[in-house]
Amino acid sequence: MYLCNDTRRLPYVELLTAMRDTGAKESDYPRLYDSVGCCELGRGHGDQHAAHKFAPGADPELWVEWDDDSDEIRYVRVTVCVAEDETLPRLERTACTLPTDHGCGHSWEARDLPHR
Ligand SMILES: [Zn+2]
Ligand SMILES: [Zn+2]
Repeated sequence: MYLCNDTRRLPYVELLTAMRDTGAKESDYPRLYDSVGCCELGRGHGDQHAAHKFAPGADPELWVEWDDDSDEIRYVRVTVCVAEDETLPRLERTACTLPTDHGCGHSWEARDLPHR
C-alpha cells in the first residue's frame, strides 16, 4: 500500500495542550514549524485522516484526526492495532502501529515512507 500523506497544519497551543494532557513533557513538544499532522493511513482509506502525535509509553496514544471538507481538528486517544505479518518468521515481524480500527493495510504493508 502507499500512504495517504495528506497534511494538516495544527494550531500550536491546541497541540501542546493535547500532548500535555496525555502526559507529554516539554522536551516532547514539537517545534512550531513541526506542528503538522501527516496522515499515516493507506491511500484511499476513506473516513478521516489520522496522524500519530504522542505515545505516553503505554496505550492509549494521542492521535489527531481531520476531514477533507472541514477545518475541525480532533485529538483522540487510540489503542494500536499491533497485528503482525504472520507470513514472516517471528523475529522479522513488526507490529502494526496504526489505530485499532484503521482502514486499508497495516503499517508494515507501506511501500513508501511518511513525508510532508
Ligand atoms: Zn489520509
Ligand atoms: Zn493494523
